[in-house]
Amino acid sequence: MSPRVMAQIAMVMNLDKCIGCHTCSVTCKQTWTNRPGVEYVWFNNVETRPGQGYPRRYEDQERWRGGWQVDAKGRLRLRAGGRLRKLLGIFANPLMPSIDDYYEPWTYDYENLTRAPLSDDVPVARPRSLITGEPTTVRWSANWDDNLGGDPSPDPLLGRIQDQVKLDFENAFMFYLPRICEHCLNPSCVASCPSGAMYKRSEDGIVLVDQDRCRGWRMCVTGCPYKKVYFNHKTGKAEKCTFCYPRVEVGLPTVCSETCVGRLRYLGVMLYDADRVSEVAATPDDKDLYEAQLSLFVDPDDPAVAGSGLPADWIEAARRSPVRDLIVKYRLALPLHPEYRTLPMVWYVPPLSPVVDALATSGHDGEDADNLFAAIESLRIPVDYLAELFTAGDPAPVTASLRRLAAMRSYMRAVNLGTRPPQV
Ligand code: SF4
Ligand code: SF4
Repeated sequence: MSPRVMAQIAMVMNLDKCIGCHTCSVTCKQTWTNRPGVEYVWFNNVETRPGQGYPRRYEDQERWRGGWQVDAKGRLRLRAGGRLRKLLGIFANPLMPSIDDYYEPWTYDYENLTRAPLSDDVPVARPRSLITGEPTTVRWSANWDDNLGGDPSPDPLLGRIQDQVKLDFENAFMFYLPRICEHCLNPSCVASCPSGAMYKRSEDGIVLVDQDRCRGWRMCVTGCPYKKVYFNHKTGKAEKCTFCYPRVEVGLPTVCSETCVGRLRYLGVMLYDADRVSEVAATPDDKDLYEAQLSLFVDPDDPAVAGSGLPADWIEAARRSPVRDLIVKYRLALPLHPEYRTLPMVWYVPPLSPVVDALATSGHDGEDADNLFAAIESLRIPVDYLAELFTAGDPAPVTASLRRLAAMRSYMRAVNLGTRPPQV
């Protein structure tokens, strides 16, 4: 049967290039959440992995599981007891992160810090809560475990290393994971909204909240496995990343892409078969979800695209999309937590870290291309850890992506050293 082709704007981030500067988070905040009620909100955040993330331990899906499940047809359904929660709304919905999981936003008494008269002691100012206005004790924040890293065993995804497990320095590693809303093809935030306020735009797939319809039930906060919907406690409405749609609509990149210091964010159009979304979301084995989602994407030159009614400039944009190249053509980029089954559309090129054995035995910088290619299994960042993040535990697609990255690095190094002519 001919696919029903729809367009989705998507992002790929190359994790090897992220330096953890948080410029993306700060510029996003200045643009979108620099307002009362959303002081604690980061539509874009950058996590250190292994680490607890933001909000803390959001990947521990058992915490949110009281409400939702995917049925055999890929639809999101309320679990037993969930209907009562849906009826009673926030009063019976305990399955949300608390302010302590995000962090209590604070500021300082800058007046005291900057204007204190000359004295023998340095002026001090206790942090003051932006919510209560009272002095507060800072115990946790969105980036509290920045740069800690560690040996992830035995509990890699929850990052309990920092709390409980002694560091094995020989095996310690870290990398950065910038995160925004995934603008999923099967968005559980939309499915979980009792008011019909959350919606996915048909023209470009951006997921938004209709502020007039939102009643503040916060089922979307519970329903999003990535925890990328937030509650504005001043307006009583849900808010989330808008993929900077007012900018995208006039041909500008998102703020996080434009300001990214590492130039690691690629934007582009993907075409997909909208009729197969539910079927793919219901793929029986988690480990097959990466390939299943790949099978959803439609080639812009497929005959079905011409008759799809999509604007010609969108079809052309899909043809020229670097995101499509990284996801489909080169198979370098991988989805974040495909086992959540929302079919995320922000994908990641996994980090190609140095080879531990090469460092130990040869004294090289671990960047030697042949070492890299031959010893993917000895990389400092374990393939199994990356597979838990990107392919529901299947190491094969991660290894394949890393080998291609190593081959490209080998080739570019040879070209730059002049030992091999460039191939056009
Ligand atoms: Fe909705 Fe969460 Fe997916 Fe964003 S990441 S579209 S908020 S389910
Ligand atoms: Fe990483 Fe770019 Fe954000 Fe800096 S601005 S933290 S390099 S994604």
